[in-house]
Amino acid sequence: MRCRVCGEKAFIKLHYPKMYLCADHFVEYFERKVKRTIEKYKLLKPDEKVLVVISGGKDSAVTAYVLKKLGYNVECLHINLGIGEYSEKSEQYAREQCRIIGAPLHVVNVRELLGKGIGEVRTRRPTCSYCGLTKRYLFNKFAYDNGFDVIATGHNLDDEASFIFSNLMNWNTEYLAKQGPVLPGEGKFVRKVKPLYELTEREVVAYALAVGLEYIVDECPHARGATTIEYKEILNEMEEKRPGTKINFVKGYLRKRHLFEAELREIELKECKLCGMPAQGEKCSFCKFWGLEEPVTLKIANTDDEEPFGP
Ligand SMILES: [Zn+2]
Ligand SMILES: [Zn+2]
Repeated sequence: MRCRVCGEKAFIKLHYPKMYLCADHFVEYFERKVKRTIEKYKLLKPDEKVLVVISGGKDSAVTAYVLKKLGYNVECLHINLGIGEYSEKSEQYAREQCRIIGAPLHVVNVRELLGKGIGEVRTRRPTCSYCGLTKRYLFNKFAYDNGFDVIATGHNLDDEASFIFSNLMNWNTEYLAKQGPVLPGEGKFVRKVKPLYELTEREVVAYALAVGLEYIVDECPHARGATTIEYKEILNEMEEKRPGTKINFVKGYLRKRHLFEAELREIELKECKLCGMPAQGEKCSFCKFWGLEEPVTLKIANTDDEEPFGP
C-alpha cells in the first residue's frame, strides 16, 4: 500500500481515521496531533519549564522527544528504583534516549537516597503501591524544588481509556471525578499534563520506531496481575470491530466528567512537619513510609548527582 500524501511505500495503516502513511508523513501526522492536543486542552505555554519523567519505556521517551521537537524547554528526570538488573537496564535506556532527544537528564537513585531499593523494604504494603507513592513524591518534589512549571507524563489514549473503563467497572467514582489531560497544580503539587492523550499505544510504538528511539520492553518484575492489560485487550477488540471506540469513549467521558464531581471528598491538607510537602496527617505518606528523620534533598545544585548532559 502507498502513502496517502506522497504515494511512497506505506509505513503504517491507521485505523481511525483510516489511512496509509509513509514514515515521514506519519511522523508529521503524529507531531501535528500532539501540537493540537496541547492547544485544545491548553496543556503548555511556550515559555514554561517542562519536566518529563523518563522511565526508559516508550511513552515518556516519545513525550520528551516530541515536546523538544516542538520547541519546548524540556528537561528529563529518571528515577532509578533499585530493582536489580531491571532498573540498571531502564537507566541505560533513559540515558541513551536523552542523548537522542538532546535534553538534560537528572537521575535520582532510590537506593542511594533512601537506603533501600523498591522491593527491599519489609512492609505489608504491596510493592507497587509504595513504589507508586515513592515515584509520585520524588518527581513532584523534584519539579517543585527546581522550579519546573509543569510535569508532562507519557499517558496515551489506551492508558486513559483503560483507566476510565476499569474505574467504571469497579465504580471508583471518586477517581472518575478528576481524571483528564490536565491535572491542575495546587499549592506544592505541580501541574501534570498528558500530551499523548489522543494517540494510541500502537501509534506511540510506531513513532518511536520511526524516529529511532529504543526503549525497555521488559515488565517490572513486581508488576501485579494483568487487569489493566485485560481491560486494554477488551478495548482493542472493540476498536477492531468499531474503529474510533477508544477516542469516542474518552471524549465522551470528558463531556460527562462533571457528573462525578459530587463524589469528590474534601481532604484538608496540612504541611508535612519534616519536608513541608502536602500531608494529610503530621507527616506526609512518603516521609512516614520511609521512616525519615531528615527530609530528602532534590535540589539540582545540592546534589553531586548528575551533570546535565546534552547533545
Ligand atoms: Zn508520504
Ligand atoms: Zn514529608
